[in-house]
Amino acid sequence: MKTTAKPPLSRVPYYRLLELARPEARGLALGTCFLFVGSVAGLLFPQALRLIVDGALLEGPSSDLDRVALGLLGLFMVQAVATAMRYVLYLTAGERIVNRLREQLYRSLLHQDIAFFDTHKTGELTSRLSSDTATIQGVVSSNISVLLRNIIVLMGGVGFLLYTSLKLALVILLVVPAMAFGAVLYGRGVRNLARQVQGMHGASHQVATESLSAIRTVRMFAAEDTEVRRYSEALQRAFALTRRQLRASGFFSGGGVFGAYAAVALVFWYGGRLVHQHQLTVGALTSFLVYTLLVAMALSALGDLWGDLMKATGATERVFEIIDRKPAFPTRGGLRPERMEGRLEVEAVHFRYPARPDSPVLQGLELAVNPGEAVAVVGPSGGGKSTLVALLTRLYDPDAGRILLDGRDLRELDPSWLRQQTGIVSQEPLLFSCSIADNIRYGRPDATDAEVQAAARAAHAHEFIQRFPEGYLTEVGERGTQLSGGQRQRVAIARAMLVDPSLLILDEATSALDAESEHLVKDALERLMKGRTTLIIAHRLSTVSGADRVVVIEAGRIVQSGDHATLMGEEGLYRRLVERQFVAA
Ligand code: ADP
Repeated sequence: MKTTAKPPLSRVPYYRLLELARPEARGLALGTCFLFVGSVAGLLFPQALRLIVDGALLEGPSSDLDRVALGLLGLFMVQAVATAMRYVLYLTAGERIVNRLREQLYRSLLHQDIAFFDTHKTGELTSRLSSDTATIQGVVSSNISVLLRNIIVLMGGVGFLLYTSLKLALVILLVVPAMAFGAVLYGRGVRNLARQVQGMHGASHQVATESLSAIRTVRMFAAEDTEVRRYSEALQRAFALTRRQLRASGFFSGGGVFGAYAAVALVFWYGGRLVHQHQLTVGALTSFLVYTLLVAMALSALGDLWGDLMKATGATERVFEIIDRKPAFPTRGGLRPERMEGRLEVEAVHFRYPARPDSPVLQGLELAVNPGEAVAVVGPSGGGKSTLVALLTRLYDPDAGRILLDGRDLRELDPSWLRQQTGIVSQEPLLFSCSIADNIRYGRPDATDAEVQAAARAAHAHEFIQRFPEGYLTEVGERGTQLSGGQRQRVAIARAMLVDPSLLILDEATSALDAESEHLVKDALERLMKGRTTLIIAHRLSTVSGADRVVVIEAGRIVQSGDHATLMGEEGLYRRLVERQFVAA
């Protein structure tokens, strides 16, 4: 077996679960009362049995039998009601606690730095959100109550065993240490396996999430079977481990049942002798037998629970690992200047992606953009254009050098404010599956309908939106798939208009459009650019026409800068790129 690092139990943040449980204290306390009542009722049942056997059955029939039977029925009724109440109260509390946990986990996830998402896959993260929290839910709702119940039954049962016959009890209790020892061994194994199994489930979940979110590509390549195979292989890997886990629980349960019945056999053998010697009545032996079964069942249930608890320990570790992870930099907090001019300075910036620390991407990039100026950034693919955008919006921080906005280092500014000041319109603008109006409002949820309409008009979007039967309330489908490329683009422009950013980034905003859409989008963009500092990231050169200046990035450095005509006059990369594209066209 592969050795895995075992975190010490003390590090498992169970107390954090308790904190989450605090608001449920009343419900849980009430549930515990019912639990107590139910367990005691269960423990009294063998006493009634003893009365029936010794009194009503052996001493001769009488009205006693009726009374005792009726009493028994009452006892069972109390037990039933208490069990029902306990379930409802505990499960409700568990549901609330886990929802709170999910919310915390989700909040922490959404605030992580982008570098975190470069190294963690979506499916793996959503699996923590769904399957790990579900495991924890099992523990905090049902397991805890079952645990308490079994502890009460165990202690009460042992008490009654001792009370009924001290001699017999001492013999029986010899079996207990063996069972407890087995439980501890089992729990230890299960905990390690469980962590690995959860990781494997995360991996298969990841495969499914990836193919489902790229279903169009899968369909285009007729790769359904390949994807099914990939998923099935991931499931198989998880299953190989799960099987070991299941075998362990199977053997453990079998051992538990054997232990219980072996104890019963022992009671018959030794208890029978005591009855013959008149040291024990038949009724007492009967009740003793039932207590033995109750105690044995409680013990074996506790062993199972121990296993579940260990499983949940793995899940709890995985969940709190993320809840407690501090992002490299926060998403809120910092300066929020009143007015912005939009002067941008990039000073000797060096950068490597944390996920790929060996390959330098930006290597001493220098760039200054005046307020209101439009600068096109061009260069060969992989040169670092998109990386520059990522640094400007502070998805990452530079390794060396700094980026200034109106003379202030981006690191001093409130990142959320910075992103509000920065409008991005990209080639594949991401819309959310809600109405057009909500998509336009995305960056400014408090905008009025009139403001939304004005932005849409300016973005040449109003006309086509009006033609939908439901107008602004039209749903756009997941990622906006129910709109055409040009329509999505114009919705994104309207969204940027509404936010009224002082810095604008157009990431190849007009590529992949037909001539008519391109004309509308271009016109809308020109309106949007008016009076704002604009960076046009041009992966194709035809989009640079609206720029005051062109800079050429190659291998993470600016190698040329000037207007189109000047650069065409120079011997250099720009001219070569233009000529190459011209030939290709
Ligand atoms: P451009 O936009 O000029 O085509 P990019 O800025 O996208 O170039 O990429 C520059 C380099 O950084 C490329 O070599 C690319 O492979 C790498 N890169 C881009 N994004 C990431 C990322 N999230 N993690 C690691 N490397 C990346």
